[in-house]
Amino acid sequence: MTRTTGTGHGTSTLARWDRRAARVGAWCADALELVLPVTCAVCGEPGATLCRGCRIMLRRSTARPAAVRPPGPLEPSGVLVYTAGEYEHELAACLLAYKNGGRTDLAPTLAAVLSAVLAAAAHDLRDRTGPLHWVPVPTSARARRRRWFDPVADVLDAAALPSGTEVHRALRHRAPGRGGAGGAQKTRGRAQRTRAVRGVMRARDVAGRTCVVVDDVLTTGATAAEAVHRLEQAGARVPAVVTLAGVRAARSPRENEVMSNPVVREFPHSLP
Ligand SMILES: [Zn+2]
Repeated sequence: MTRTTGTGHGTSTLARWDRRAARVGAWCADALELVLPVTCAVCGEPGATLCRGCRIMLRRSTARPAAVRPPGPLEPSGVLVYTAGEYEHELAACLLAYKNGGRTDLAPTLAAVLSAVLAAAAHDLRDRTGPLHWVPVPTSARARRRRWFDPVADVLDAAALPSGTEVHRALRHRAPGRGGAGGAQKTRGRAQRTRAVRGVMRARDVAGRTCVVVDDVLTTGATAAEAVHRLEQAGARVPAVVTLAGVRAARSPRENEVMSNPVVREFPHSLP
């Protein structure tokens, strides 16, 4: 938390209560681990958060984080988009288990994946003026109460930051309960999603700073585009967006939903 700036102002009682609840939730999860055996979050094999085979497959599919073609809504802003890999197989299974399956023990694994993407982006952006600020896309208050944690910000807090860069939680949801990266949004079309996220975030304390938006999954790009827009409106330079996973440009969000869920259920694949 010492790396994070801009967290101490205007914090509501509700947000403080949420953080306390999250700490109690994490403590309960730790206590449960003592009595329940840990299983692989992808294939269910007992023994570890990720079994050796699934860990190898995850490492392979995320070994080369790279700049990818921005999806439609992000194109006009001219930002570079970096991602660790496709939203499928082990990466999708880990993200789903972490966000919706209560597997917060995957945070260090996903933080390692994110660290590599941050390093790739920071390397490419090293000649830009001023230090880079990583700005996580915020979770809506409603989603945070449902999950008891903030998926993107928590993974970013656990990630290794490239030198000379820092986390800046500059984006907040404007109205609790509106918008957010809920699972239902993944089935919406691009235009619907763009409308749904318009105006849900506000940015502060970013004037003159160089900010890189950090999100977990890039589907239509509507949420990331809104984040970029809000930051730029508040006076930031936003050269890039960084995500853990991206969906193939040719695939619609609905196809992605259909594609990724059976993959998650069908695991394990045969391993090399
Ligand atoms: Zn496994």
